[in-house]
Amino acid sequence: MKPEVLLSRIRIVLCRPSHPGNIGAAARAMKTMGLTRLSLVEPKHFPDPEAETRATGAVDLLKHAEIHTTLNAALAGTVFVVGLSARRRDLGPEIGEPREMVERLLCAAEEGDVALVFGNETMGLSNDEIQCCHAAVSIPTNPEFSSLNLGSAVQVLSYEVRMAAFSGRPPVSDTLVTPFVSPTAKHDEVEGLYEHLQSVMTQTGFYNPEQPGRLMPKLRRLFGRIRLERDEVNILRGVLASTQNKTRHGSRHD
Ligand code: SAH
Repeated sequence: MKPEVLLSRIRIVLCRPSHPGNIGAAARAMKTMGLTRLSLVEPKHFPDPEAETRATGAVDLLKHAEIHTTLNAALAGTVFVVGLSARRRDLGPEIGEPREMVERLLCAAEEGDVALVFGNETMGLSNDEIQCCHAAVSIPTNPEFSSLNLGSAVQVLSYEVRMAAFSGRPPVSDTLVTPFVSPTAKHDEVEGLYEHLQSVMTQTGFYNPEQPGRLMPKLRRLFGRIRLERDEVNILRGVLASTQNKTRHGSRHD
């Protein structure tokens, strides 16, 4: 199944979010990773201008967000549900690492809709809410400070989902600049540069053909190491030519 189709089957469910800003942040986190389906269970304030501000370009996800009064209603039709929890509980679904659980989530998405469920900012997921999940994920953190901001937790999981859906190679934005490329300089072009260099250095007195020493082998070693491009050879020869012009010009006036 195409990665885009798998992503379209993933619901991000926020349970009882208190801060509308976090709902906006979650929408933005989702959209950057190609997720579109946001569900809210009893949001304290929604719709809200603060949510729109934090969503910036992802306001469309807020417009299409589903609002439910119970988690069960938000999960209707799903075939696999993973809860996000910073805390470990003695009795609850099996807990796993994000990567392992995301793989399982995507496998299940081949069959139908799946959900990632996030808890309230202060309380996290309640015991009843976690009981609705088939599995739980804890994002590995600093053991002394393990609670991420809700929007950040959504971002981490959305990123993992995208990487897994595209087998680690998601397509990159075509707004990225195409890197400059020039063909590698041919042997004779580089030899032309050496000749040019040698004649300018002779002209300026830096190189004495009677006592060449190891200057040319050292310069060959330098340029050989960087494998010059044609464009670079042309620039260097331009610099050399301008030095020659200046020297000739200067000597006429001496
Ligand atoms: N104080 C709460 C944390 C709430 S943070 C608690 O102790 O549970 C809001 C939500 O973000 C959490 O319910 C969870 O869904 C998610 N979250 C934050 N940190 C996380 C972590 N380290 N691992 C998994 N989920 C996390």
